[in-house]
Amino acid sequence: MISLLQRAVSTIVNPIVRSIAPRHCLVCRICIEETQTLYQTTPLEEYLCGRCLDSFPPAPSSGELYNDLLKNFSGDELSISKVYARYTATRFQQWTPDEDTKQNQISEYPLDWLYDDEVILDSSGEPPREPHILTAIHYLKYQGYPRLGLAFGNELGAMLNHIGCDTYTAIVPVPIHHARKRERGYNQAECIAEGINLVLKQNLNANLIRRVRYTSTQTKLSRIERIKNISTAFVIDNPKQCVNSTYLIVDDVITSGSTLNTIATTLLNAGAKQVDVVAIAKAQ
Ligand SMILES: [Zn+2]
Repeated sequence: MISLLQRAVSTIVNPIVRSIAPRHCLVCRICIEETQTLYQTTPLEEYLCGRCLDSFPPAPSSGELYNDLLKNFSGDELSISKVYARYTATRFQQWTPDEDTKQNQISEYPLDWLYDDEVILDSSGEPPREPHILTAIHYLKYQGYPRLGLAFGNELGAMLNHIGCDTYTAIVPVPIHHARKRERGYNQAECIAEGINLVLKQNLNANLIRRVRYTSTQTKLSRIERIKNISTAFVIDNPKQCVNSTYLIVDDVITSGSTLNTIATTLLNAGAKQVDVVAIAKAQ
């Protein structure tokens, strides 16, 4: 009943708000109403225009993503059972910067900040204004757009529903350190997980795992050093609840997979029987 009322109010109020303050695509800055009708309703289209959304390369299949992880971890080391993502974040991306010339450009997108587990380089700076999925994720993570996480989560939930994913004991966002959460005001993975669960209607548990170490920059570490650095960063306060449980871990971007695999290993060690992961994008 409440949701019906909310929907009715937003149907009346939103067009009025938009006519006073038109929405602009976070990525390319064009007015969204110029390219979309007023009544497009996917939550992502509140933030991103159709042209940008269409330009984000889709992620490979779940099987291909899993094989990708096997390049970084041996079968014995890999604790993740299934992996899902919606988009691919590539370092080099072809894009058309100018509608008039239609000249395609290949540009290099800086990915270094992705590998920096907690501390972004130049986090105060604006992200590059290219139709790149990471520009949108930069807004979610560093520019104060938690509701964009809900919108991405909604899209991931629809994707998982379409694939026919499992029913999990809990959907669990990758935790950030409490000091980081205080500083940022929210955990972006938690926002995504909430969006997913609005669609899947399973059980969300944002308190299962705690991040106990405020990890410093990982950019300059080797892969082995990075794995070592992250391996003691997470604890489960009540490990008994993990016995025979299944989990879907939620993150914004999958890079090497070492953070997600560490969490999966921690959960399996506590007795969990299956850990799958989902993210907005897989970096390549
Ligand atoms: Zn756009």
